[in-house]
Amino acid sequence: MPDPGRPGGRADEPPGGAPGGYRPAEIEEQRGAGHRDAFMRLYTPHRMAYIRGEGKPAAGGGCPFCALVDQPDDVGLIVARGALVYVVLNLYPYNSGHCMSVPYRHVSDYADLTPDETDELATMTQRALRALRQASGAQGFNVGMNLGSVAGAGIAAHLHQHIVPRWGGDTNFMPVVGHTKVLPELLGPTRELLAAAWQEVQ
Ligand SMILES: [Zn+2]
Repeated sequence: MPDPGRPGGRADEPPGGAPGGYRPAEIEEQRGAGHRDAFMRLYTPHRMAYIRGEGKPAAGGGCPFCALVDQPDDVGLIVARGALVYVVLNLYPYNSGHCMSVPYRHVSDYADLTPDETDELATMTQRALRALRQASGAQGFNVGMNLGSVAGAGIAAHLHQHIVPRWGGDTNFMPVVGHTKVLPELLGPTRELLAAAWQEVQ
């Protein structure tokens, strides 16, 4: 019988593990309480600052998307500025190059965008796709919006369209290269690469 609660063990493992004493299950084992189940866990400590609320507007505080535009591009990680919409790197990226198209106007609902804002949000997103392909050879993308906190929006008060580049196998290696100490060093160069590629594409 499978015993999901047995410490360090899967039912299909021989007692004592593989030759040499190495047991793959120990990689994710840690002393503690709880029942093992069928799921693997992916720990993303670099996102803890985001979950704790850093960068989110405090009650009565300012909106980071509104405050960003007053900063120099390299400080605010802004890739490009249009007339009504700008593109900025996500400070807590899911993948390298994860950026967002954002209207300058503080507006929460996509349905409330003006026709001109809607148009530029689309064209800036299209150009971001081209720039990401140019700069990084992205093979695919996840593009979309979370409208409202219940839908997963971290900063629901100011809408933003996520553009996440994808590569074959990125879900395998990104947890490794996505550690906390690596990402802050990548954001600056990533912004420079994208901003340069932005000028090369239409
Ligand atoms: Zn805002």
